[in-house]
Amino acid sequence: MMFNLCYGMKTINITQLPGDPFSHPNYAVDLAGMDAGIDVWRAVGNWRCTAGPWGNNTFFFVSCDASGNHCKVRCADGRDRVITLALTHGAGLYVRPVVGKVYRDGQVMYEEGRVAQPGQNVTGNHIHAEIAEGVQISKHYDSSMGVYRMNHELNILKYMFVCRERSVIKNTKGAVLPVCYTAKYSPGIIVPEGKDMLLDIVAKKEKLNIRKSLTFSGGKNTSPVLYCMPKGSRAAVTHFTERFEADGYEWAQVSLVVDDKTINGYVQLDTKSYIIKVRR
Ligand SMILES: [Zn+2]
Repeated sequence: MMFNLCYGMKTINITQLPGDPFSHPNYAVDLAGMDAGIDVWRAVGNWRCTAGPWGNNTFFFVSCDASGNHCKVRCADGRDRVITLALTHGAGLYVRPVVGKVYRDGQVMYEEGRVAQPGQNVTGNHIHAEIAEGVQISKHYDSSMGVYRMNHELNILKYMFVCRERSVIKNTKGAVLPVCYTAKYSPGIIVPEGKDMLLDIVAKKEKLNIRKSLTFSGGKNTSPVLYCMPKGSRAAVTHFTERFEADGYEWAQVSLVVDDKTINGYVQLDTKSYIIKVRR
């Protein structure tokens, strides 16, 4: 089973980019989640903890199969690589990575924190994330950049997807992030965020309700059902709400024509009931 290389946080809120101050001349990013409380990094695909704790509570994880043997993941440039993911600054209050443990898809690997060396500027809870090709178990001091970094480091902004199924984008600091729509590798739906691409929602189950509005009561959408999409039918996506609604799901605004009548409404993005396809 092949997985896309994806961010493991539910909310993508980037606070530092490569090139930003606070020792970010390399390809690392800081993600501050929801800005309040402690957010976590969940495995997208399988990851084995290979080493740690290194400086600033850094742990290293390698992409692997369900048995823990390292294997390739699909990167956002369309190529497959063995990837090492290094996560830094976690507090380890609730989640303490265990070296040798295989974190399977969906499991919590790491939590936000502000663990730092004396004198380092850490303003709030976040996870500092960087990636490299191959199996890496440490960093070396790069005197030309003045930072510790892994060998064969890759620019996380170019190679890691935001998975719409798992994450909502709150702030990218202007970076254009590649987006995929399912954690499992599926060709043809890799879309650079901010670029126009026509997408369809295809009903996977027998009934996929299109609701009139985003009106919730008791955690459920209570607005009228405008249309019930039969299995296999398509609706054009006009907009993603880009946040979790009161029912815990993202919703998409969709449009389709039935019997010469245009229906505009909202569909719940529960991955059990739909798939996303690029418009034919
Ligand atoms: Zn950082």
